[in-house]
Amino acid sequence: MNNNSKIYVAGHRGMVGSAIVRHLTGSGFTNLILKTSAELDLRNQQSVNDFFKNEKPEYVFLAAAKVGGINANNIYRAEFLYDNLAIEINVIEAAKQNSVKKLLFLGSSCIYPKSAPQPLKEEYLLTGILESTNEPYAIAKIAGIKLCEAYRSQYGCNFISAMPTNLYGPNDNYDLEKSHVLPALIRKFHAAKTNGSSEVIVWGSGKPMREFLHVDDLAAACLILMQKYDGVGFLNVGFGSDISISDLSFLLADIVGFKGKIVFDTSRADGTVRKLMDSSKMQALGWQPKIGLKQGISDTYKIFHEQFLHI
Ligand code: GDP
Repeated sequence: MNNNSKIYVAGHRGMVGSAIVRHLTGSGFTNLILKTSAELDLRNQQSVNDFFKNEKPEYVFLAAAKVGGINANNIYRAEFLYDNLAIEINVIEAAKQNSVKKLLFLGSSCIYPKSAPQPLKEEYLLTGILESTNEPYAIAKIAGIKLCEAYRSQYGCNFISAMPTNLYGPNDNYDLEKSHVLPALIRKFHAAKTNGSSEVIVWGSGKPMREFLHVDDLAAACLILMQKYDGVGFLNVGFGSDISISDLSFLLADIVGFKGKIVFDTSRADGTVRKLMDSSKMQALGWQPKIGLKQGISDTYKIFHEQFLHI
């Protein structure tokens, strides 16, 4: 891949896609193709085929997906399965038909069995049952991995996959019913501080452990994978350590400046107990996360504050 290569970043308005675009642009790549979902509905096979035929991208970062937190995953089960499968089959097949040189598909750490040993190694895929709250999303993402593997073995396509851990950073979704925990709690603590509320409700027991990676660190990993990795298997991309939702809540309250009470609502689902990934294969390619959790959250809160002054 050189600075003039024609690169399509699918999902460039989302948190992951926009971070990849920032990183590619900052690294000197000048020939990026970007389409909003209004311009190109990736669930529509004909539109995707026409787009690939006309544009002939050489490299594809497949960061487009229907994503959400535990609540959205659990409620919109059909949409999470259908939309993600449709995006994957349309883009991967069109990439093959139009001789894309390399494609990177982005999955998620929720592909692993809910009781898999920790830290999660790539070979634990499909060794047990999935966590039910996000099973449809996980099934779609597993299908994406398998599509890349099958297109490689049957057609010789250089299609690879990366499995990022829970992500946060600029352009996250702050909708309280659909978002992930970190943006949701930034918003809740900020609103409570601003309104003078004495308590904030955190879903679940606070006991689940989660690993959080700043999306800019993921973007750097994606470029390394595109430039250096042509292997069959997918690679984990994680931060390397995790934190309980309870400790995360106290950290966020501290950063935001909320001094009231934190109440754990145990009527809400906890989801997976723990999903810390083993990212040693990714690290062997020369990648390391650079943004610490406290720094990353402080930066993210600053951007949130500037963007959502009204909340
Ligand atoms: P998950 O990693 O797929 O389970 O996705 P989430 O980021 O949505 O949730 C992670 C954990 O944070 C779960 O145990 C949630 O119950 C917990 N959590 C606590 N408060 C919240 C909240 O306000 N929103 C969300 N999405 N999760 C929360």
